[in-house]
Amino acid sequence: MARVQFEHIYKRFQKVEVVRDINIDIKDKEFMVFVGPSGCGKSTCLRMVAGLEEPSEGEIYIGDRMVNGVDPKDRDIAMVFQNYALYPHMTVFDNMAFGLKLRHFPKPEIKKRVEEAAGILGLEALLKRKPKELSGGQRQRVALGRAIVREAQVFLMDEPLSNLDAKLRVETRANIIKLHQRIQTTTIYVTHDQVEAMTMGDRIAVLNGGIIQQIGAPQELYDHPANLFVAGFIGTPS
Ligand code: ADP
Ligand code: MG
Repeated sequence: MARVQFEHIYKRFQKVEVVRDINIDIKDKEFMVFVGPSGCGKSTCLRMVAGLEEPSEGEIYIGDRMVNGVDPKDRDIAMVFQNYALYPHMTVFDNMAFGLKLRHFPKPEIKKRVEEAAGILGLEALLKRKPKELSGGQRQRVALGRAIVREAQVFLMDEPLSNLDAKLRVETRANIIKLHQRIQTTTIYVTHDQVEAMTMGDRIAVLNGGIIQQIGAPQELYDHPANLFVAGFIGTPS
């Protein structure tokens, strides 16, 4: 089970409170989107699950395990960032294998996982190429592949499409949804784009000013926005 729970999570930098009393229960296999304007605390929430920041108050659970204070590499998460830097001198295979090599996985296991992930993402024919020989969309798929091979319990994605042009964004969005349907890893996906949120999320948490304004399925938010902020942000002025 890869449920992720936030229980009364607060985060302060110096004395500035950037996240306030976040409570959310993300179900096993769920694709949860955190959406809200720039600076509302989305990345901070994700980074606390990853262990890159510690909450000032409250507890975070991955599965049944309280992970406060647990080292990021012991959290069984895989993160896809906005700036998905690939190693330019390494092949696609080696880029995808890198994290597993660091963790001393046996070679045959690495080969099996990379080939499986390549199959899922349609990268089989590109494994021997270098990043500069790939299109932007193919590179983004390699970045996703690096996360998949970890076979982590939870995927964390922080605006993974924001460096892509509009056409590629739509294509990669579809790839991520397909990927999730196939492997069903619990995912927290951060974006400031409401269209992305509405088309991708099983549920969406709308944040503003470090506070969750509403959590619900896209249709619920659309039909019954909890307040003017949600109505305006989701875009249903009537
Ligand atoms: P979002 O991802 O929604 O754009 P962030 O979570 O990155 O927002 O940031 C939320 C707020 O916290 C912002 O005001 C940001 O400036 C502040 N913040 C984020 N990280 C730090 C940090 N390490 N030190 C101080 N302030 C930070
Ligand atoms: Mg951010």
